[in-house]
Amino acid sequence: MVDVRRPFVAGNWKCNTTLSTAVQLADELKRRVSRLRRIEVGVIPPYPFIERIASRLDGERIVVGAQDIHPEPSGAYTGAVSGPMLKSVGTGFVLVGHSERRHTFGDGLDTVTKKLGAALIADLDVVLCIGERLEERDAGQAVAVCETQLSTALRDISRDEMQRITIAYEPVWAIGTGRVATPEQAQTIHHQIRTWLANHFDSDVAASTRIQYGGSVKPANAAGLMTQPDVDGALVGGASLDADSFSAIVTASLESSAELNSVRNAQT
Ligand code: PEP
Repeated sequence: MVDVRRPFVAGNWKCNTTLSTAVQLADELKRRVSRLRRIEVGVIPPYPFIERIASRLDGERIVVGAQDIHPEPSGAYTGAVSGPMLKSVGTGFVLVGHSERRHTFGDGLDTVTKKLGAALIADLDVVLCIGERLEERDAGQAVAVCETQLSTALRDISRDEMQRITIAYEPVWAIGTGRVATPEQAQTIHHQIRTWLANHFDSDVAASTRIQYGGSVKPANAAGLMTQPDVDGALVGGASLDADSFSAIVTASLESSAELNSVRNAQT
């Protein structure tokens, strides 16, 4: 039996929902996807709803994440939300380096590194988002940009700590645009990321780290992406706001990974 990575599909609700629509969405997902095994499902509500959603999903197989984290644990940082705060309301993981944080809010490479460290110190798992802009892809710099983002964010991270980190490859040109990467484009970069992990850590870290794809994932394109050998689930924005769409993406990921595993096992 080949050792396989359990896919992870997470829905980033961004600055959407109200308390009542967030609870309704969580309740619908509880009915549809919370009993699935062999896949990890996460939801990432806005900060004010985390505690309510986490208690609503208590005991279910859906983990609750946060969209960002402040680098410092406490202090005079008006408007900031820290790791210990997130942990205390039932947050299991946090997004770090999402492209909207990098490009709309100006999080630089060092800020992302500090946020990642702060999450681990607060005992939170991390989804580290990386990805190139369109002009960088057009200039042939996609891999170099991703490698720079990886090498700065992970520069002080140990092999053991890598067990708490999922990487999300999210080409900026595909986020919220409806322009999804082709399965081949996604696989090419995911493979490069895994090679980078092998070179900078070792082959065990490379083999065990999950790499999600994100950027206009919808029910219609999920299966094609998820059957790629180095794609281990999805980070979903827009489509995660609709319980039908998100559940269909979760199911497609589960079925695609089962198919992939049976091919792998037949080859051994
Ligand atoms: C995201 O925000 O991480 C994302 C992938 O958004 P969308 O699915 O809407 O492109």
